[in-house]
Amino acid sequence: MAKDSGGKRSAGTRLVTGGRSGDFSEHVVNPPVWRASTHLYRDCAALREGVKSNEDGSFFYGRRGAPTQWALAEALTDLEPGAEGTVLYPSGVAAIVAALMSVLRSGDVLLVADNAYDPTRNTAMGLLRQFGVEHRFFDPLNVPAYEQAFCERTKAVMLESPGSLTMEVCDVPALTRIARDKGAVSLFDNTWATSLGLAALEHGCDISITSLTKHIGGHSDLMMGAASAGERWYRRLRRTAQQLGHVVSPDDASLALRGLRTMGVRLERETASALRIAEWLGQRDEVAHVLCPMLPGAPGHELWARDFTGGCGLFSFVLKGSDDASRCRFIDALDLFGIGYSWGGFESLALPFDVDPVRSRMAWPKKGWGVEDKLGIRLSIGLEDVGELIADLEQAFAAMKQG
Ligand SMILES: *Cc1c(COP(=O)(O)O)cnc(C)c1O
Repeated sequence: MAKDSGGKRSAGTRLVTGGRSGDFSEHVVNPPVWRASTHLYRDCAALREGVKSNEDGSFFYGRRGAPTQWALAEALTDLEPGAEGTVLYPSGVAAIVAALMSVLRSGDVLLVADNAYDPTRNTAMGLLRQFGVEHRFFDPLNVPAYEQAFCERTKAVMLESPGSLTMEVCDVPALTRIARDKGAVSLFDNTWATSLGLAALEHGCDISITSLTKHIGGHSDLMMGAASAGERWYRRLRRTAQQLGHVVSPDDASLALRGLRTMGVRLERETASALRIAEWLGQRDEVAHVLCPMLPGAPGHELWARDFTGGCGLFSFVLKGSDDASRCRFIDALDLFGIGYSWGGFESLALPFDVDPVRSRMAWPKKGWGVEDKLGIRLSIGLEDVGELIADLEQAFAAMKQG
């Protein structure tokens, strides 16, 4: 059902219309919050019939969801060209871990992009190793070295672009083509762009994973994840999630669906503000490097412009020098920007980051940079007035220099 509306209409329109095809939508704009564990059957025959279908849209038991969760999953499928279905998870990390567990078994080797989200790295080094899966980190910008990292037992590749914190853009079609040639599954963490900004499956990925906590929720008040895939991997994802007992609450699904409807305009506005701020930072004496692939001339911009159809408010920059105390003075002096983890909400955030503990293959400071310049700051630009955000950054630079 989802495939009918996918592709025909623009992504912006599908954000609005997605997830309303089923009878279960009850013919209202927003599906009700359908709290249900037990579904009552008419008789024994209906109970036995009910067990046969394991599909969204047919009632069985609360762990397989109810109309609110089905509507959200369908809306996400509508948005992801090439997807057969979407599985929901209690967090983005749960989605990543469950997707990896769906494609890997003991004895397999997983290749992990060195700039993947830190908890993704930890899962490879921890839980997956515990279950007999080996991993190798690779530099996603070095395609020949990546190709050489494959061995006979390599069964999956975990990609993310732009990379967490450091924002490198990799050549997704090239990396996924090599994976396919080698018989490995490509999993892609698409949290930064969402399927609105990067049609991951159309760029060769087999499984597209999103933390809905970020842009889709959009209001910093829920945690959820999703994985979308074509027929073959969707079935596997679904089975694994059911065996892991993953389920999301209908209240959160309703909030996520509400967030999804306005995601397009939020991302447009956040992208425009982020570009203005990134440009402004690029002209500041205190700033060594701006890591914002949406910005013409910035690292990764060419690949970004080739593959992505949209951006968001998340990017990083690097202060000159290596004085952590001055970085803290700068961040502490910010008034409009909150200090905190996560991103993609309507409010702006700033986060100091250090790269050494979360990379093993990619150099930091990067080649050609001054060895002193390594103090990263990540900004998540929200919906505040952009002039006021810039003024806030400006006064924080002044506070930083006062010492
Ligand atoms: C936040 C994040 C996740 C994890 O999402 P949660 O919902 O917080 O578990 C995964 N990938 C990336 C790139 C993220 O930034």
